[in-house]
Amino acid sequence: MDNVRVRFAPSPTGYLHIGGLRTALYNYLFARKNNGKFILRIEDTDQTRFVEGAIENLINSLQWAGINYDEGVFIENGQVVEKGDFGPYIQSKRLDIYKKYVDELIENGHAYYCFCTKERLDKVREEQKISGQIPRYDGFCRNIPLEEAKKRVENGEEYVVRLKLPHNRDINFYDIVRGDITINTSDMDDQVLLKSDGYPTYHLAVVVDDHLMGITHIVRGEEWLPSTPKHVYLYEAFGWEKPTYVHLPTVLNKDRKKLSKRQGDVSVEDFRNKGYLPEALVNYLALVGWSPEDNNEIMSLEEMVEKFSFERVSKTGGIFDLDKLDWINGHYIRSSSTERIRELAIPYLINEDLIDERFAHENTEWIDCLVETLKENISTISEIPEKSKFIFSEEIEIGEELFNEFLNNENTPIIMNAIIEEISNIEKFDLEEAKTFMKKIQQKTGIKGKNLFMPTRVALTGSEHGPELVNILYLLGKDKIIRRARKVIEKLS
Ligand code: GLU
Repeated sequence: MDNVRVRFAPSPTGYLHIGGLRTALYNYLFARKNNGKFILRIEDTDQTRFVEGAIENLINSLQWAGINYDEGVFIENGQVVEKGDFGPYIQSKRLDIYKKYVDELIENGHAYYCFCTKERLDKVREEQKISGQIPRYDGFCRNIPLEEAKKRVENGEEYVVRLKLPHNRDINFYDIVRGDITINTSDMDDQVLLKSDGYPTYHLAVVVDDHLMGITHIVRGEEWLPSTPKHVYLYEAFGWEKPTYVHLPTVLNKDRKKLSKRQGDVSVEDFRNKGYLPEALVNYLALVGWSPEDNNEIMSLEEMVEKFSFERVSKTGGIFDLDKLDWINGHYIRSSSTERIRELAIPYLINEDLIDERFAHENTEWIDCLVETLKENISTISEIPEKSKFIFSEEIEIGEELFNEFLNNENTPIIMNAIIEEISNIEKFDLEEAKTFMKKIQQKTGIKGKNLFMPTRVALTGSEHGPELVNILYLLGKDKIIRRARKVIEKLS
C-alpha cells in the first residue's frame, strides 16, 4: 500500500490504558508493514480533563513498550517536543485552525450558531425522555438567519457551533473490520463542533486534523464507531476524501465487560510495575482481538509486523486473560538473560528491604544465582521477593507433618552434624564449594540418595519441593546453613 499514514490520538487523561496500547500497537504494525508513517497526536481539547504530566506518561509508556513512531509528540531531554511537517501535533495549539474551518462550514451552510442555554437544553432533554424519544438537539437555532446570528455573536452572546445535518439522508462508509455501514441522519444529532470556550469538540478536531495530517487509515477502538457517521458527513461537507476506517473490538475482562480501573490494573504503568516485560505485554495484547494465520502465539514485534493484517482482526470483543498474559510473561522471563532479570529484580528486592543498593552492587554473582534459581517458576518479576523469602528469612517454619515425615529419624542428627562440621571447615563457601558439598556429606555419613537429600532440603528450606539443592546451599551461605541445621538438632534432642 502506498503512503500509508496512521495515527494514535490519545487524550491525556492521566495514563495509557492497555486498550489504548493495543490500538497504538495495531497502528504501529500496520504502518511498519506498509512502510508507512505512524504519528502520535495529543487530543487535549477537553480542558476539564487535563492532567499534569499525562503527555509525558503516555510517551514513556509507548517508549517502554517499544512502540516507536515517526512524527508527533516526543520527549527530548525531559521536554515535550514536536517533530514532523504537519504540526502542531497537540490539539490545544491548533485552535485558530479549527476556528477557520468552522467558519468555512458556517459560511457554506453546513454549520450554525446555537445560543441555547443549558437550562433550555436540559428542559428539552427532559421532555424528550418523558415522551419516550431519544434525547437530542431539537433544532431550535437551526434557522436563525446567519446575519442575525452573527450580530448576536458580536454582541457578546454565548454560543456554540453545531453541525447542520441534512434531513433523512443515508451516510455510508466502509470499515475493514465491520464491513459496510449505513446510518440515516434522522438517527443522528446536530453535533456541537465548537464549544462556548472556543475549543473544538473531538468530532471537529479529529476530522480537521486527520485530513490536514494526511491520515489514510483511522484505526481506533469501536467505542468511536457511533461517532464515525458524523465524521464522514464532515468530510463530505468540507469536500474532502474520507479515510479508511478500522474499528477495533473492545478489550474486555473475563466477564465480557469493559476493563475498567475500578476492577484493578488497566494502565500500562500498572503492568510495568507488576513486573511484566514489555515484549510480553505487547505480544499478548496483539493477540487480544487478532490472531496470526499460523496460530503461533509467541512473536517478536518484527514477526508481528510481518504477519499482521486487519482482515484477521475479530469483530467481537477480545478477552483480556491474565492467566495467559502470565504464561507469556513467564516464557519471556525464562528466555531472558540472567543479567536483564537481575537488573529488573533488584529494585523489587530493595523495595521489600531484602537487600540494599550496596549489597546489590557487591554481590552480583549471588543475585544472579538467586534469579536463575527462581526464574523457572515465576510469571512476573514482582514475585521474586516473595519467592525468595525462604532464603532471606532468619527463621523458617517446618510444619509438623513435614518434620515427622522427613526429619524425625535417626539419620537426621548425623546428617545435620556432618553438615555443620564440614561447612565450618570451608573458609569461603562459594558456588564451587556448594557443588561438591553434598558429595562430601554423603562420603562422611554413608547416607545417600533420597535419605540424604530430603532431610537436608526440608531442614534448610521448610519445604519438600523447590529449586536445586546446590543453589539453595550457596544462596543460604555458611551461617544460615549452620543455624538451620542446629535448630533441627535442637528440636530432635
Ligand atoms: N482522542 C480519542 C481517544 O482518546 C481518539 C479517538 C480516535 O482515535 O479518533 O481515544
